[in-house]
Amino acid sequence: MEQEKQKRLRALPAVHEVVSRLDLEAEFSPFLTNERQLPRLTQGVRQVLQRAREQVTRNSINSTSFDEFESSLWPWILNELRRELTGAEFNLRRVINATGVVLHTNCGRALLAPEVARFVAEQAERYSNLELNIETGARGSRYVHVEELLCRLTGAEAAMVVNNNAAAVLLMMNTFAQGKEVIVSRGELVEVGGSFRIPEVLKAGGAKLVEVGSTNKTWLRDYELAIGPETALLLKVHTSNYRVEGFTHSVSGAELVELGEKRGLPVMEDLGSGSFFDGATLGFPIEPTIKQTIKAGLALVSFSGDKLLGGPQAGIIVGKKEHIKLLRANQLTRALRVDKLTLAALEGTLRLYENGGIDEIPVWRMLSAPLETLHKAASELVTALLANPKIAVELKEDVSQVGGGAWPTVELPTSVCAIRPIQGSVIELEAFLRLGTVAILSRIHKDWVLIDVRTLLSGDREDIVQRLREWGC
Ligand SMILES: *Cc1c(COP(=O)(O)O)cnc(C)c1O
Repeated sequence: MEQEKQKRLRALPAVHEVVSRLDLEAEFSPFLTNERQLPRLTQGVRQVLQRAREQVTRNSINSTSFDEFESSLWPWILNELRRELTGAEFNLRRVINATGVVLHTNCGRALLAPEVARFVAEQAERYSNLELNIETGARGSRYVHVEELLCRLTGAEAAMVVNNNAAAVLLMMNTFAQGKEVIVSRGELVEVGGSFRIPEVLKAGGAKLVEVGSTNKTWLRDYELAIGPETALLLKVHTSNYRVEGFTHSVSGAELVELGEKRGLPVMEDLGSGSFFDGATLGFPIEPTIKQTIKAGLALVSFSGDKLLGGPQAGIIVGKKEHIKLLRANQLTRALRVDKLTLAALEGTLRLYENGGIDEIPVWRMLSAPLETLHKAASELVTALLANPKIAVELKEDVSQVGGGAWPTVELPTSVCAIRPIQGSVIELEAFLRLGTVAILSRIHKDWVLIDVRTLLSGDREDIVQRLREWGC
């Protein structure tokens, strides 16, 4: 065994041998003839050979004979090198999300629709009227491109956009409650994604948090009793990523608005994800849409651009004109402002809501994918993998998640392709999939690596099949 490994290691060519043999491969001639590209090629060859050495050392050998190993070596090197030289030059790379988590924060949350992505690319390559009023030739506002659209979609009087929802909450608190008190229910003091905590964001905005009620129950009277001369506003926060079950009570936005009006205080809400679309029509738990929330009369409502909205990272604030005007005047707004590519992506996405169906928004298409479609896609993947002798595959029923803190308890029925390695462990297989040139992110459940087809895109299936062909080689 050890001897066989040594024999194979000796059979691996040296870097210069690979480089000179590449002369015969036309596709690599641009690298060989260009002095600036040659070092990249050599570096690529070095990495591929390193990987080959690791594989020989790590893997058990009984599955292939030495002759098979030797004859498959050169095609393997060429293939690896091809992948090494295309796509690996950037730190940001494509990842295949086979986890079934639609709004996967580690993988970039919402995907833009292809036509929106094209619009963004166009805007990136050309000058635009970002802050230009074309009619008058004078300076304009970058926010006008999305403000009207946002107002139409939410029914709000005014709107603005900042870097993300965390920035939106920070800006609202800083503008209206600096040096003053903000009343929040104890049941709503959430932490989102480890770095956004309501108490801390209030502090960063210069506001003082006044907690009312208990973790599971807060009544209107609790807010009422906490209002004092220093109170600047009442804040509601969507509990996003957690649920308190059992005996609970919270106060609705409408009730708070009524109280706020009596006491002359604005009511604001951090909606977290928020949604333009009523998910209940697809069977999701009932949640007020942004439009319904605004109807309750809140002064300001904020939400993310890249959660259920399905657009770019952004913090969107909609509400009353007088309040939005004050937000605009805050110096912080300049520091939190969004760039033109974000605005382009947002305008494109908002127009899809106005003109198209939700089917055109990738997040909603994935969330509403019919089980039959998922079942068919998973069976096709299983069929494509059946020929692979190094793995066992099965079609299984499982559940996907929404992600992004939206509907945390919802389990979406899905079909998965479950894979078990004949040799090696599922932990090794998961890592092997993740460490390919195109990283494939799967999930482990018991003795299986699961590929959830809900979040796969065109071309992903072929790459998964190809990567698994290399398993155990
Ligand atoms: C996600 C979330 C945030 C943070 O939004 P980002 O756009 O990621 O900054 C803030 N509040 C709540 C309730 C959230 O769910």
